[in-house]
Amino acid sequence: MNRREAHRNRIPLYAKILLGMGFGLGFGFLAMALHWEGFVHNWVAPFGAIFMRLLKLIAVPLVLVSLILGVVNLKDIRNLSRIGLKTILIYVCTTIIAVSIGLTMVSLIKPGRVFPKDKQTEFMEHFQQTVAEREAQMQQVQVESPLQFVVDMVPDNIFQALGDNSKMLQIIFFALLFGVALIVVGPSKTPSIVRFFQQLNLVLLKIIDFIMAFAPVGVFALMAALIVDYSGDAGIFSALGMYALTVVLALAVIIFLVYPLIMRCFGGRTLKQFFHAVFPVQMLAFSTSSSAATLPLTMERTRKHLGVSEEVADFVLPVGVTINMDGTSCYQAVAAVFLAQVLGLDLTFGQMLLILATATLSSIGTPGIPGGSIVMLMIVLDSVGIPIEGLALILGIDRPLDMVRTMVNVTGDMTVACVVDKANKEKSAGPEA
Ligand code: ASP
Repeated sequence: MNRREAHRNRIPLYAKILLGMGFGLGFGFLAMALHWEGFVHNWVAPFGAIFMRLLKLIAVPLVLVSLILGVVNLKDIRNLSRIGLKTILIYVCTTIIAVSIGLTMVSLIKPGRVFPKDKQTEFMEHFQQTVAEREAQMQQVQVESPLQFVVDMVPDNIFQALGDNSKMLQIIFFALLFGVALIVVGPSKTPSIVRFFQQLNLVLLKIIDFIMAFAPVGVFALMAALIVDYSGDAGIFSALGMYALTVVLALAVIIFLVYPLIMRCFGGRTLKQFFHAVFPVQMLAFSTSSSAATLPLTMERTRKHLGVSEEVADFVLPVGVTINMDGTSCYQAVAAVFLAQVLGLDLTFGQMLLILATATLSSIGTPGIPGGSIVMLMIVLDSVGIPIEGLALILGIDRPLDMVRTMVNVTGDMTVACVVDKANKEKSAGPEA
């Protein structure tokens, strides 16, 4: 490493991302004060859009390649079913805990009871069209059979699935199938295919390094554009303040209490090590509102800074980015009960349980993209008879809350990766090994 490089590397990634965020926020406010909205829109926002595109560009190949390698590295089907089942079970448990926390907080704080009635009509009128658009989207995902979501996991054309970032579950299905077939055939008979994916992985990791070098600029642009976009919406913040506070409090409980507790009891890492590793990932998730876009960094930090083995990280994280969304499911629970409170509907205990079930299931189908959960939230609302139009009340404040829940989503994936890794290492060190 030459001296210039060494100097550049002395500033850690999280500091660069934080600086990008700080300057972006500052610049956004300055631009508003000086009425430079047009400048930000034309000349700054495109860099944020480029950064988001780069992250999304790498998400599909990364999930495909790392999951295939993840399965191949497990070496036999017994290992796969052991780690696979454990992973999915822990993911579902953390999601249920997250939804329960959301339900408890919103029932205790009751933000819907203090919502100003005059604002209710105002928001309904303002967001009517957006809700209509979302409803049209929902018609498409509306299931005819309760098993439709399982049918939708199976691709009928892998190239079409690879060409669509929202088809991540289909890509996961194909990667698992391909990986299992490779193990069964035996890597000794297909060394060039395995080597191909290993080498492709190295190239992808290098591309990720390049993209991350651009992260501070991308984050700067995303933040500046966000401030300018939100400048006219101060009214929304004050009216929905209690609701937003409830969501943030519930998410904070998950990040600062639940995950650290899991980490202490089952994760095998110190809290210092854990928070040091997750912080930059959380900052990127916050700025991009997309856990799929954050995946490259999630994988890198989990492997390098939490010491999670490659075989576990390559399997647990790409699966988690799609099916494990603790922040999203917690948020869906709070949103549903909040809307019921505003509309004066009293939810029974059975309906609360239904919210628990639908929020858990729908978070599995939520794509890890900005606003990915809105369409899924309609399913939750629908299940307990809350009018979908109520969504109009909360859409305006969705983006900032999306940023926070995405932070929770990625932290959850990293936590579970540590738990599975610890259990796996203990098992290998055990008497059976
Ligand atoms: N933006 C979230 C994510 O990418 C999904 C959502 O809750 O809308 O994880």
